[in-house]
Amino acid sequence: MIQINNLHKSYVTGNNSLHVLKGLNLEIEEGEFVSIMGSSGSGKSTLLNILGILDNYDEGAYSLDGHLMQDMNETQAARTRNKMIGFIFQSFNLISFKNAMENVALPLYYKGISRKKRNQMAMEFLEKLGLKEWAHHMPNELSGGQRQRVAIARALISKPRIILADEPTGALDTQTSYEVMEMLKQINDEGITVIIVTHEYDIAAMTQKIIRLKDGVIEEIIKNGDLKSFQAQYNRNINKPEH
Ligand code: ADP
Ligand code: MG
Repeated sequence: MIQINNLHKSYVTGNNSLHVLKGLNLEIEEGEFVSIMGSSGSGKSTLLNILGILDNYDEGAYSLDGHLMQDMNETQAARTRNKMIGFIFQSFNLISFKNAMENVALPLYYKGISRKKRNQMAMEFLEKLGLKEWAHHMPNELSGGQRQRVAIARALISKPRIILADEPTGALDTQTSYEVMEMLKQINDEGITVIIVTHEYDIAAMTQKIIRLKDGVIEEIIKNGDLKSFQAQYNRNINKPEH
C-alpha cells in the first residue's frame, strides 16, 4: 500500500539546511500495524507527515495505493489524503469550543453532509469508542484518554484506509496509553492500516512491526516474532533510551 524509495527531505531556514531524511526506503502493506521509533529529532514526524501527504519531500518516490505522489497535483493529493487517511496527534487537536460529537462530526461538514446525518454518524462512532454518554461534553470536561478516543472517532468517521498517529499516547498515563493502543489494535483488526510514531518501547511492542529510524534512513525493522530478543537488547541498552 505504501512504497517509498530513496526519500530525501531537508528543512531550509535562512542559510541553514537540515538534511533529515537521507535516502529512506520503506514498504508497508495494507492491514499492517506498525510503529516508527527513533530518537528525538530523528525525523519520525517528518516521515509521518510525508506519508500523510501533509508535507512535501525533495527527492525520491512515494507511491500510495499504486498512485505516485509526484504524478498528483495539489487537488488530487488533497483528495487522496481526505479519502484515505485519518490523523491522530499527541495533543489530540480537538476544537475547544465544540463538544465531543461536533468534533467527531467535523470532517463530514467539509464533505457537505447534512447536520442530522453528521451528528448521527458521530454518535455511532462515539458509541463504538465507549463515549456515548460524553457526546455533549466539551473537550476540557474530558480526561486525556477520553479526548484521545474522541480524536480517534474523528479520524475514523471518514472511513480511512490508513490511520497515522504521531505519539498518540505521548500525553497519557501508562494505563490509558494501553487502552488507546487496544483501540488502535481493534481498528487494525477491522482491516485499517495503522502506523504510529512512539518513543516508548512498551507501546511499540503492541504493534506487529517496529521500524527504527536513524541517521535519516531505516536502520532496522523488527517483526513481531522477534520482539522478545529486541526487548532483551533494549533492556541491555536501557541506559541509552530512545528519547
Ligand atoms: P522527531 O519527530 O523524530 O522528533 P522531526 O521529524 O519532528 O523529528 O524533526 C526532525 C528534525 O527536523 C529536527 O531536528 C527538527 O528540529 C527539524 N524540523 C522539523 N520540522 C521542521 C521545520 N518545519 N522547519 C525546520 N526544521 C524542522
Ligand atoms: Mg515527532
